[in-house]
Amino acid sequence: MSEQCNCRQCLRDRKEENPLGSGWPTEMTRMILCQICGNKRCPHATDHRNECTGSNEPGQDGSAYAECKSHNAATTVAKPTPANRAS
Ligand SMILES: [Zn+2]
Ligand SMILES: [Zn+2]
Repeated sequence: MSEQCNCRQCLRDRKEENPLGSGWPTEMTRMILCQICGNKRCPHATDHRNECTGSNEPGQDGSAYAECKSHNAATTVAKPTPANRAS
């Protein structure tokens, strides 16, 4: 058991502090990056149970950074539906 998950959820579950004993949660003092793709906005960086999207797009489902969307972002991102994309 040398490898431990460093997604934000696991850091929280372990109540990990950085530096140890400082009372500062690691998630506050370090940037949590996806361990697969290395993007901070990847939902997998927030919780390893989320699938890695390999994307650093803001506002992804399940990502903590989705909460940081600007308040007056009136633009709704139209997701292309695969069904409508018969090539
Ligand atoms: Zn994890
Ligand atoms: Zn990822």
